[in-house]
Amino acid sequence: MAAQDRTASESQPEPFEHDGSDTRHAMCCPKCGRLMVKYKVQADGRHGLDYCFGCEEVWLDRGEWTYLKSEGLHLRVTEVTTEAWQRRLREQASARQREERFRTAIGADTFEEVQRLHAWLQQQPARGEILRYLAQENTD
Ligand SMILES: [Zn+2]
Repeated sequence: MAAQDRTASESQPEPFEHDGSDTRHAMCCPKCGRLMVKYKVQADGRHGLDYCFGCEEVWLDRGEWTYLKSEGLHLRVTEVTTEAWQRRLREQASARQREERFRTAIGADTFEEVQRLHAWLQQQPARGEILRYLAQENTD
């Protein structure tokens, strides 16, 4: 992918880390004082970065660089600020919410069984036929 190649440079300098402990509110750029834009790195919202459009620089909370490295995301930091990345996170978050609603509706034990069945189904060459059969059973 072209976008990936552009950002995946080994020589990319490490982003600055700031001391901000409150990561919920927008922060001012420590360099130019402009309000920075917050981006989630992952759908769980526990990791994020701040981006200054003025300096075009990324600021991280303390320890975030280590996290990004451990996830292999440190060479894709600028990708996090793209609409495509953020859209994917929103999709992941709503998929997780759907799953959680489903889990609550059918109960944790049944949900576990469904997950097991789902994993098993993925490995069946005839899963399409199995699903059609099951759907028929349900409507009869
Ligand atoms: Zn700035």
